[in-house]
Parts: sequence; structure tokens; C-alpha cells
Amino acid sequence: MARYDVIVIGAGPAGSTTAYRLARAGARVCLMDRARFPRDKPCGGGLTLRAVRELPFSVEPVVEDRIETIELGFRYTRRWSRRAKQPLVLMTQRRRLDAFLAEQAVTAGAEFRDGSKVTAVDPSGRVAIDGERLDADVVVGADGANGITARSLGRPAPEHGVALEGNVAYTHVSRERFQGRAVAELGAVPGGYAWVFPKGDHVNVGVGGWQSEGPRLRDHLRELCAAFEIDEAEVRDLRGHRLPMRGASMRPVEGRLLLVGDAAGLVDPLSGDGMYEAVFSGRLAADAALEFLHGRARDLDAYAERFAPAFAPLESISWRAKLAFERFPHLAFRLATTNVSWRLFQAVVRGDRRASDTHGLRGAPLRVLQALGV
Ligand SMILES: Cc1cc2nc3c(=O)[nH]c(=O)nc-3n(C[C@H](O)[C@H](O)[C@H](O)COP(=O)(O)OP(=O)(O)OC[C@H]3O[C@@H](n4cnc5c(N)ncnc54)[C@H](O)[C@@H]3O)c2cc1C
Repeated sequence: MARYDVIVIGAGPAGSTTAYRLARAGARVCLMDRARFPRDKPCGGGLTLRAVRELPFSVEPVVEDRIETIELGFRYTRRWSRRAKQPLVLMTQRRRLDAFLAEQAVTAGAEFRDGSKVTAVDPSGRVAIDGERLDADVVVGADGANGITARSLGRPAPEHGVALEGNVAYTHVSRERFQGRAVAELGAVPGGYAWVFPKGDHVNVGVGGWQSEGPRLRDHLRELCAAFEIDEAEVRDLRGHRLPMRGASMRPVEGRLLLVGDAAGLVDPLSGDGMYEAVFSGRLAADAALEFLHGRARDLDAYAERFAPAFAPLESISWRAKLAFERFPHLAFRLATTNVSWRLFQAVVRGDRRASDTHGLRGAPLRVLQALGV
């Protein structure tokens, strides 16, 4: 039976960056994923600058576009756009990004077993993959929204959003229209939005919203395509996926098992982004694991103690803003498109400022949005 200091289950952004940090610090790490890499994952592939800052190395080799212009629409009628002085979001494709992240973990010393599906895991540090058993002092569950680690801990079913996305080649859509620009259409999908994100040779189009919107996602996507004169028949690689929004109130530790990223339910309820949260939670988990492995802590509870304050304020703000959009969409759109909101948005997306830090006049529109969502 193989034994490791840490087994990381799942090689998405949460798992690979956790494995990287641990291996760099000298731990014996096994990173495993049920998929053979490179593999794709339904995702807009937008790395906000705050996510980029949180990454332990540069992802420049897999960046395909840089977003400086944000365009917001309201139900395909009203339009608003602003250009920032510096990029706010880096666009990549998950097939490329995730392979790159796993490669960095391997270079740092982690063993990577792709094509290895974990079939059972328990809080004592035991992991089963088809016919084999592995042991570790710490197990990190980074197996995403549909993984087994959170389920095996008997966590209650999380609140979910759903999304559907696909790609349209630049041969069928105008590069001039979308390059360097992220388009989000508000009020178009209950509980979410529709988007057009540019990549190297195509745009990614998608719609996401409340779980109950699942049966209507195809119609929402049709509406998005029609509004931007995209031939729906040219949308390739169409995929749906769940967005887990269980969040910061959940305890992400049990025994020797830690949950990170989507497995811990960390998708932002308002934006649907989860890569920043994935990488950030991975850093907190790696720190707690190292303290435990080096005998500086008796257990892994430090992760739970740091997890709640790190994610709860942001999550509560996002939920309230989301509910404000649901209840008062016209007013919320007007508040979201003020100059003050634009400045605050840039600071938060870049990681210069926390969204919870809204004191003073500059945060006024956000505070009104919050009040509307109570
Ligand atoms: C349509 C859509 C668009 C999105 N757009 C964005 C965006 O633009 N920007 C953004 O920041 N976020 C976006 N998100 C959210 C983002 O994709 C996730 O939050 C992010 O991928 C979470 O990373 P993770 O590492 O926790 O999990 P994942 O990336 O889901 O990785 C989990 C890994 O675990 C593996 N795994 C699962 N089960 C097992 C098992 N039993 N054994 C072994 N391995 C297993 C899987 O194969 C997978 O590789 C989007 C999500 C969706 C659905």
C-alpha cells in the first residue's frame, strides 16, 4: 500500500495549486484525477486579476486574451461599457490552463496520477482507487462540484446554480466586436446572466442561473445567440455543469480531510466565478496541512478557522447583490453602472480592495444594492 504525506483528489485549479504549494515545501504529494489530461471542463475560462495574483506562478503561457473592456447589457436592450486602464481578467481555456497547473505541480515534485478515479475516501486519510488503497496523513478533496469527497462526509446537498456554455469560432463571429471585451447580459437569465468571452480563436458563449432554470438554458442560449447575431448551429462543444454555492457556512474539515474549491461549495453566487476561491482556499489548506505535517499544529482545524472569515463576508455580499438584481432589476442595473460602482468593481476584481470594504461614500451604490437584497 502506497503512503504519502498528502493525497490531493482532483487536478483543477484548487487541487493542482494546493499540490504545488505542498510539494514545493517538501511534502510527498500524490495528485490524482479521474480524467486523462489534458481534459476540458465547462467554464468561461476568465481568470480575474485577483485570481491571477493568488496563483503561485505565472500563467502567461496559456493566456489567450486580456479583458480591459467590460460591457453590461440589460435584457438585450440597454447597453453600458467602460474600458479600464489595465487588464481586469485574463482569458484562457480550461483544457490548457489545467494541464499547465498540473505540470507545475509535477515540476515542484508532486506525483500526478491522471486517469485514476477515487472510489472511496474517509476522514482517517484512506483513499481507494479502482482496486488499490492509498494512505496519507492529509487528504485534500479538490474534486469539484460533482466529486465524492464532500458526499462521503455526508455534507447536506449544496445550493446549486446551473450553466450551459459552448464555443463559436472567429470565422463565424466578429473578432473586432469581442476581442479584449467581456460581455455580460444582466436580467436575461433568472438567478444569473448570459455572457460572451473572447479567446484566442473563438468566443465562449454561455448562460447560467438558478437550478430551476435548467430546462430553459437552451432557450436562454438561443436568445443570446440571436441578440449577438451568432448562428446557433455554429456553437460547438456545448456543455452543461452545476455551480455549487454552499459556501462559507460549511465546515470544510473533518479529521484528516480538507475540502477546497468547488468541493467546498465556493463559487461566487453573483458572478459564478470560482477559480479565485479555488486557488485561495488551496493556499489556506496547504498552510494548515504543512503546520500539521511539521508538528506545529495538532490537527487541521486552523483551516476551518481561517476559511469562514476569508469567504463568509464576500459570500454574504454577493448573495444580497444577487437578490437585489432579482427583486429590483432595473434599479440594480442603474446602480451597478454608476462611475462609483465601476471604480469599486475594478478594485475588487483586481484584488486591490475587498468587496466587504464598502465604508465611505465610494461604496454607496454597493451598500444600496445590499440593502435591496436583504
Ligand atoms: C459554465 C461555467 C462557467 C464558469 N466560468 C468561470 C469563469 O469564467 N471564471 C471563474 O473563475 N470560474 C468560472 N466557473 C467556475 C469554475 O469553473 C470552478 O469554480 C472551478 O473550476 C473550481 O475549481 P476546482 O479545482 O475546485 O474544481 P474543478 O475544476 O471542477 O476540478 C475538479 C477535478 O476533480 C476531478 N474529479 C472529480 N471526481 C473525481 C474522483 N472521484 N476521482 C478523481 N478525480 C476526480 C475532475 O475530473 C476535475 O478535474 C464556471 C463554471 C461553469 C460551470
